[in-house]
Amino acid sequence: MVAYCCLIQFQQQPAQFTNPETPGYVGFANLPNQVHRKSVKKGFEFTLMVVGESGLGKSTLINSLFLTDLYPERIIPGAAEKIERTVQIEASTVEIEERGVKLRLTVVDTPGYGDAINCRDCFKTIISYIDEQFERYLHDESGLNRRHIIDNRVHCCFYFISPFGHGLKPLDVEFMKAIHNKVNIVPVIAKADTLSLKERERLKKRILDEIEEHGIKIYHLPDAESDEDEDFKEQTRLLKASIPFCVVGSNQLIEAKGKKVRGRLYPWGVVEVENPEHNDFLKLRTMLM
Ligand code: GDP
Repeated sequence: MVAYCCLIQFQQQPAQFTNPETPGYVGFANLPNQVHRKSVKKGFEFTLMVVGESGLGKSTLINSLFLTDLYPERIIPGAAEKIERTVQIEASTVEIEERGVKLRLTVVDTPGYGDAINCRDCFKTIISYIDEQFERYLHDESGLNRRHIIDNRVHCCFYFISPFGHGLKPLDVEFMKAIHNKVNIVPVIAKADTLSLKERERLKKRILDEIEEHGIKIYHLPDAESDEDEDFKEQTRLLKASIPFCVVGSNQLIEAKGKKVRGRLYPWGVVEVENPEHNDFLKLRTMLM
């Protein structure tokens, strides 16, 4: 559903251009024709929420996904400040337009989540925010000016899980249970470059077992229809099998094998964000589409 950017107008920032020919570019052009025609008229509205402890790479991933700096002036608080911090909600909206099709993308970040020493109630602010958006939409929908409603309901939540633990933390379980009936949760394992292949496999399995054990409802991709082509069926099967997605984000372009790629440079080599052999970033993006 979410598309990639050809022209981005981000609040005060100047418009940036991204070439549709660049590798990894995902655009409205890739949508089926019918959807495309409908959306030309109306445009899309999509609200993505990102939740997870600070430092797990949320803003880096969002920047990698939408090729724009959503938080150019972000100030990261020190530990002393974080002790008593409450969760804030920061919504940034980008208007993306590609060949006349509009997408209004809102990314809702939740700084402060998991930062306080006692964070039992730290997700209450997030839940109130989700509820308020539903209520506002319902209110607008029952009003007179229904044609021009702005839909700020949270459509999807990327929930960032730490790669350093042994699975879900109590806070992860509590939070996901609190929102699973309101929002589509897509669990992602952050900073997957810190895990070996074996560790990834083990952590994915553990998280899936815990999700089942606690009765947490995560987003399930619908099965491919029986009349879809084999490639599409295979892609859907692969996406389903990869959840929770192991992702890597980066704000840097690095020279690798003679071309510039988005990646992270280590003494032993480059982790490429858009290389499916290195991590599930592309799968996550495909699913979002
Ligand atoms: P946020 O607080 O969750 O938004 O995290 P940031 O995006 O600010 O990232 C925190 C730190 O982690 C920064 O130093 C990033 O460069 C680094 N980082 C972000 N993504 C990754 C990743 O995929 N792998 C690794 N190893 N580090 C990352």
